[in-house]
Amino acid sequence: MLNIGVLALQGDFAEHAAMLRRIDAHPVEVRKAEQLADLHGLIMPGGESTTISRVAHASGLYEPLRAFVQHKPTWGTCAGAILLAKHITGQAAHFGVMDMTVTRNAFGRQVDSFSTDLAVVGFDAPLRAVFIRAPIIESVGAGVSVLARLPDGRIVAARQGHWLATAFHPELTPDTRLHAYFLDMCYQQRVVL
Ligand code: GLN
Repeated sequence: MLNIGVLALQGDFAEHAAMLRRIDAHPVEVRKAEQLADLHGLIMPGGESTTISRVAHASGLYEPLRAFVQHKPTWGTCAGAILLAKHITGQAAHFGVMDMTVTRNAFGRQVDSFSTDLAVVGFDAPLRAVFIRAPIIESVGAGVSVLARLPDGRIVAARQGHWLATAFHPELTPDTRLHAYFLDMCYQQRVVL
């Protein structure tokens, strides 16, 4: 069984942990640097990217997290995707690793939150995706694969090597396919290590 960390400083980490249990992974709620040592991968959940990074700094977790993210499978959902991004339009706290440009709160006030069906590369049926004050992935670099777009073409899921980013919240529906996809990434990386 793989140990998958869920950054548990703020946001919807409990829902991610519940999803991981359903696919027979072992979730670890990460609040201290020592906990990173035994992980095969890490999920950075949705919430508020500024708050997550502030609490990470305050608890001494920021630099150890940044080091972890460089080399180990990491999935950023929503606020977590902002933290992964190399480039941000405007201002946001971020580790600056994954070659994509992200805009925070990219949807107007009237549609702050919405859900829609997405076609995801490699999935045989659409995925229901919940967006909550979501960022958008404006563009990606050459080494990044786009996994899903909104009907208007905007990018909402992407992968680069051991990094996965989704603008929406896959932990808020019963569908475990994206969690299973990330677990598979962690298995593959585990073999390579
Ligand atoms: N708006 C939040 C941010 O900028 C992200 C929202 C979310 O994670 N649901 O960090």
